[in-house]
Amino acid sequence: MENPFANAMKQLDKAAKADNMQEKDIAFLRMPQRSISASIPLKREDGTIHYVQAYRVQYNTARGPAKGGIRFHHQVTEDEVKALSFWMAMKNAVVGIPFGGGKGGVIINPKELSTKELEQLSRKYIRAMHKDLGVDKDIPAPDVYTTPQVMAWMMDEYETITGESQPGMITGKPIELGGSQGRGYSTAMGGAYIVREIAKIKGLTPKDTTIAIQGFGNAGQHMARLLARWGYRIVAVSDSKTAIHDQKGIDIATASEYKERTKSLAGYDAKQITNEELLKLPVDILVPAALENQITKENAEEIKAKIIVELANGPTTPEADEILHRKSVTIIPDILANAGGVTVSYFEWVQNRQQYYWSETEVLEKLEKIMVEAFHSVHDIAEEKHVSHRTAAFMLAIRRIKAAQTMRGK
Ligand code: NAD
Repeated sequence: MENPFANAMKQLDKAAKADNMQEKDIAFLRMPQRSISASIPLKREDGTIHYVQAYRVQYNTARGPAKGGIRFHHQVTEDEVKALSFWMAMKNAVVGIPFGGGKGGVIINPKELSTKELEQLSRKYIRAMHKDLGVDKDIPAPDVYTTPQVMAWMMDEYETITGESQPGMITGKPIELGGSQGRGYSTAMGGAYIVREIAKIKGLTPKDTTIAIQGFGNAGQHMARLLARWGYRIVAVSDSKTAIHDQKGIDIATASEYKERTKSLAGYDAKQITNEELLKLPVDILVPAALENQITKENAEEIKAKIIVELANGPTTPEADEILHRKSVTIIPDILANAGGVTVSYFEWVQNRQQYYWSETEVLEKLEKIMVEAFHSVHDIAEEKHVSHRTAAFMLAIRRIKAAQTMRGK
């Protein structure tokens, strides 16, 4: 597989070139500002000690403290964490929230850990990194296989070390510990606002718009529910085992209830197809909301959707991106389409600092404003410069980060 950091740098080069920037203008974005690695001694329940590699990368903090999730996964690499922290810097700048980019990772398969071991790992991660974290330095959040419970342990460990109440040092917490209303479905909500805006521009009305969604987890399932509520026709959804297809439209509430009960969509009363077939359905909008590298040079030619809204991170490879651009497919990139999650994390941080909490309605109003503004800023650049929405989103982000960096005299 390609190196994710090399891919990130290709995206940087492409956007800088399209915006007539010189190498000297973007040299500061070629490497992270700070990269921390630590070895964590994890004492297993059988008494053995395993040394686990952990990372935290703060890519750029010109626009504010670093912000981004922590991933627990056995395939984490330092270059992956670097790439993810670069994309967080871009994402935070695209939606205009006052953060730089950061990301953390631990090379571990959390499915092999007991709850006690997972708590120990979460606490020891904070012990290793706490000097470089903090409400005004670097604010982590959940990512792959890290949950609100993990955030709660991490916050507790940080507060134990510092002796202070610091709920804003981490986001994605349970509501009881200062989490925000709406955080649970904020990524999908942000993506749904984007679908509504692009559909309007393309002259699509909800009842005549067919949508296929790959992935039926946090992002995909909420997205299906929200779009169905607005009247869009969700004709296919999938999980890791199967995909289901019904051209008349799938009843999302029934499918969710079935998935909850049986843990899978397999056997659901609709035509069963493969995930690969779902990607190639003749729909108006395709929403990848599962894994990275799903749309590749092998299947891009056969994609029939005219609009792709990337709710997953990195679902389209750079080669596939080129092919789809040639086919005039409009791709709303991940750094814009799934930024609803980090935007509500920002709201959580603001509420923690104020110690004053907003209603769900207030959270959604503020989220809608930010997502709609960001979408139109990107769309305007795409139109003006005749570039893809992905390149336009990177251009907007780089301009904003560069302006902050320059004003600092750096
Ligand atoms: P999740 O674990 O809740 O759901 C993932 C879904 O993908 C599940 O339904 C799973 O069955 C399905 N899946 C797994 N392997 C598959 C395969 N081979 N083919 C098809 N489907 C498969 O995860 P999530 O939180 O919904 O995240 C999904 C994507 O969205 C990831 O790329 C993630 O980085 C991105 N994302 C999520 C958030 C968030 O707030 N949840 C924020 C930003 C980006």
